[in-house]
Amino acid sequence: MTDDHADLQLFVDGAWTSGEGRDTGPVFNPATGETIAEVPFATPADLDAALAAADRGFILWRATDVQQRAAILHAAAALMRERADAIGRLLTREQGKILAEAKAEVFGAAQMFDWYAEEAQRAYGRVLVRPTGQRSIVIRQPVGPVAALSPWNFPVYLLAKKLAPALAAGCSVIAKPPEETPACTSAFFRCLLDAGLPADVAQLVFGVPDQVSRHLIASSVIRKVSFTGSVPVGKHLLKLAAEGVKRTTMELGGHAPVLIFADCDLDKTLDMVVPQKFRNAGQVCVAPTRFYVEAPIYDAFLKGFAERTAKLPIGDGMDEATRMGPLANRRRPDAIAALVNDATAKGARALAGGERGDHGYFFQPTLLADVPLDADIMSNEPFGPVAVTRSFETMEEAIEQANRLPYGLAAFAFTENGRRANRLGDAIEAGMVGINTFAISVADAPFGGVKQSGFGSEGGTEGFDSYCVTKAIHQA
Ligand code: NAD
Repeated sequence: MTDDHADLQLFVDGAWTSGEGRDTGPVFNPATGETIAEVPFATPADLDAALAAADRGFILWRATDVQQRAAILHAAAALMRERADAIGRLLTREQGKILAEAKAEVFGAAQMFDWYAEEAQRAYGRVLVRPTGQRSIVIRQPVGPVAALSPWNFPVYLLAKKLAPALAAGCSVIAKPPEETPACTSAFFRCLLDAGLPADVAQLVFGVPDQVSRHLIASSVIRKVSFTGSVPVGKHLLKLAAEGVKRTTMELGGHAPVLIFADCDLDKTLDMVVPQKFRNAGQVCVAPTRFYVEAPIYDAFLKGFAERTAKLPIGDGMDEATRMGPLANRRRPDAIAALVNDATAKGARALAGGERGDHGYFFQPTLLADVPLDADIMSNEPFGPVAVTRSFETMEEAIEQANRLPYGLAAFAFTENGRRANRLGDAIEAGMVGINTFAISVADAPFGGVKQSGFGSEGGTEGFDSYCVTKAIHQA
């Protein structure tokens, strides 16, 4: 595998296909803003070929012995680990995150494949109680060919979160990773093929997102649509999927509240929350963002947060000293600047950062204090390196604030009080609640939102089930 972006291709109908005659789109290095490659866009004919292959691939793969399927998934995981450095470098170059995070992402993808390789072998059903001589059973079967539409913030890991359970369940897949990050996702995809995945079982396409998703979802071949991305795009895809009554998993945006109570260990908490806020430059759907801090420690929290933020080395993710890289694409710094300017115009105080960088797609790590509730950023996820803070007086007030938005993906709380931790776990409206921890995205646990943050889960047995249909067979 090479470390460059020179020859980006599609993988359709068993062959890697370059750009001849196809439209292409530029791939940028967000640390510099330079164009580093052109990615070929799939034509309607390419998509039809991918659909036909996925249709054939499903018949082949669902009939493949489950142990063989598991062995291929394990082998793919091993290749991902072997190639983590090379894949990580591609990822950093086209997405911007620091190299250590990029490599960790590839290891996370490998773990996902190992976990689902095992889960594939536990696709148990049920035997119902019936009179002697009669038998009723419930079995799970793969749903069918899947359209997997994944985003640019964790291009390898979030693609793995779809492909690993889908392939484990016996589905074929057409993957459309984001056009911003084609090289790292192609290198990841090659691990599957090199591990022995039959060619028709997985296809890899890039293109104009709306054209590709419309084409795939309209086809009767596709039985399931899995999307990770923004709420508006999720709603749009749900409407398209409704036309064919397709199953969907929608992992959409959030706006994670973090409740900080006066009894927490403040230094330890700050040492956890600041790096977590600025991980991947804040482009994380479960990024801690709305900080509600109990009044007695509010000033100390702001001081400690601002001090730690000021020390964060910003730069090219390839530089080992860097702790936060640029944003992943050109449109994000402007979107974040607009939210920050709106908040300060309405009275918020910028205690750190607040400005975009002078080159590439950088935005300074930013801390806003006393942010009024009518500021746009209190309701619209910044999806960038901005923390917004307010103080609170009572736990009930904090819970009310945590639950005030129509989103519910992740929420966090820091407290040493066990009774309070229980109450928060029960009362917060979110798919995942982390208490004194941010470790909420793991292979064996469901990950997904409530309210407009989506529905369905990735990860855990729930993630596997989402690629299965149930069938009840009754025999008298
Ligand atoms: P966007 O709404 O333009 O796109 C979001 C994602 O959806 C991108 O990956 C894009 O390629 C894809 N997309 C857009 N239109 C599509 C279509 N018609 N069919 C299929 N895919 C389509 O937003 P953006 O500027 O790329 O990202 C910013 C917002 O997206 C953030 O505010 C955040 O809420 C959300 N986002 C969420 C996640 C997540 O992990 N849940 C990941 C990336 C982006």
